[in-house]
Amino acid sequence: MRKRHKLSRRDLVKGGVGAMTIPLLTILGEQAWSAERISESHPTAVALGYVHDGEDVDGAQNPTFTPDQRCDNCVQYAATSDGWGTCNIFPGFEVAGPGWCKVWVVKT
Ligand code: SF4
Repeated sequence: MRKRHKLSRRDLVKGGVGAMTIPLLTILGEQAWSAERISESHPTAVALGYVHDGEDVDGAQNPTFTPDQRCDNCVQYAATSDGWGTCNIFPGFEVAGPGWCKVWVVKT
């Protein structure tokens, strides 16, 4: 005769933790690795005057801007692929290498 195994509370907790771990890691993984390209109309982008191309910077609104200021030589930028990269100011998004915003600081 086969003995029936009774599920203990410990078995249920272990199973629950295991079942919750995979979706949680999936969510965290998506936040850490997926980066959507920022839109120039994103509210933070608008507030910081972000543009995908420095040639589009409004010089009258941004008198300290010079054409050598680009996202890809900014301290906040880390290149990913295809001329885009992550920016600490826009978590979860990518910015364009030739882009610019008001908080540009040269990478040294
Ligand atoms: S902080 Fe630097 S990298 Fe980020 S959008 Fe502004 S200029 Fe580009």
